Amino acid sequence: MTTVATKHWTLLEDGRVRCDICPRECKLRDGQRGMCFVRANEGGEIVLTTYGRSSGFCVDPIEKKPLNHFLPGSPVLSFGTAGCNLACKFCQNWDISKSREMDRLMDEASPEAIADAAERTRSRSVAFTYNDPTIFHEYAIDTADACRERGIHAVAVTAGYVKPAAREEFYAHMDAANIDLKGFREEFYHQLSAAHLEPVLDTLRYLKHETDVWFEITNLVIPGHNDSDTELDEMTGWIVSELGPDVPVHFSAFHPDYKMKDVPHTPRSTLTRARRIALGNGVRYAYTGNVLDGEGGSTYCHACGTRLIGRVGYDLTEWRLDGQGRCEACGEPCAGVFEAEPGTWGGRRQPVRIGAQSR
Ligand code: SF4
Repeated sequence: MTTVATKHWTLLEDGRVRCDICPRECKLRDGQRGMCFVRANEGGEIVLTTYGRSSGFCVDPIEKKPLNHFLPGSPVLSFGTAGCNLACKFCQNWDISKSREMDRLMDEASPEAIADAAERTRSRSVAFTYNDPTIFHEYAIDTADACRERGIHAVAVTAGYVKPAAREEFYAHMDAANIDLKGFREEFYHQLSAAHLEPVLDTLRYLKHETDVWFEITNLVIPGHNDSDTELDEMTGWIVSELGPDVPVHFSAFHPDYKMKDVPHTPRSTLTRARRIALGNGVRYAYTGNVLDGEGGSTYCHACGTRLIGRVGYDLTEWRLDGQGRCEACGEPCAGVFEAEPGTWGGRRQPVRIGAQSR
C-alpha cells in the first residue's frame, strides 16, 4: 500500500484533522480513516492510502464512460482504485467502490507506467472511473499530467461531490468529465446516497462557466425513486437554464444491485420517456444508456434532425460530421470535441496488465 501526503485538510482546535476534499468533511483522529476509507489521518495529517494502486485496467470505448461527444469511437484506458465518498444504496459498482479489502489483488502502477500503457494500447485518453477519482485526487492528477505530456487526454467519471478548492485543482488537469447527477431531489441524495444535491449542481455550474472541460451528464433512472415526469422535467429544465442546451444527458438503466435488489430494472420505455422530456425542454443531445437502442443511442443535428453519429451499442454505424464537427447536411456545428474521422475501436473491452500484482 502506498501512502502519500495531501494538502486539502485543516487542523482543528480539538486536535482532529478535517479532510477538505469533499463536502463530507470527515473529522479524523490520528489513525482514523474517512468515510471513503482511503484517506486517513496519519500522524496529524491527511494521507491518501491508495496512491499507485488500482483495481485493474481495461481499454474501453469512450462511449462506455459514457461520453458521446468526446473523440467518438476512440479507445480509453480505464481504471479505478477502491472506496467511494458516497454511499449509494443502488451502487452499480459496489464490489470496487465499497471495497475495504485493499489487500485483495491489485495492480501497482505509477502514473508514468499508466501513461506508458495508454501509449502502448494507442488509447486516446485515460479515464478515472469504476470508483470516484475525487477520493484519489493526487493519484488522478499525477496520472493525468503524465498522460497529457504524451498527448493523451484525461477523463474523470465522477459524482461531482467535491469541495471548491479541490474541485478547482482537480479540473485544471482534466480534459473531459462525465458527471453523475443521481436525481434532482435533496431527499433522494440524502436518503439513498448519504450526500447532498447542491454541491453536485455547483460542480456542474463550475465546469460550464469556469472551465473548458468538456462534460456530459449521466442520470441513472431508478423506477419509483427518481423517474417521475415532474422530477425529470425539473432536472432537464435546470440543465438547460443553468448549463445551456449543449450539455449531453444520458439516461441510464438501473439494474437491481447492492442494497436495492428489490427494485426492478428500468424499462426501456422509461428511458425513452426521460429522453423525450429532456428534448422537449431544449436539451439538444439526450441519450438512453445501458440498453440497446439505436435511436436513443445516436446523435442528431439539433437544427435539421440529420443523424450525425449512428450507434448500435458502442459501435458507430454512421458518421455525418464534416472535418470541423458540423452537420454535413446543414452545416450546423455539433457541440463536442471531434476529429475529422471517427475512431474505430468499436465495442471491445480489452483488459490490460500494467504493474506487479500483489495480494
Ligand atoms: S474524501 Fe474521504 S476522507 Fe475526505 S471528506 Fe470525503 S469521505 Fe471524508
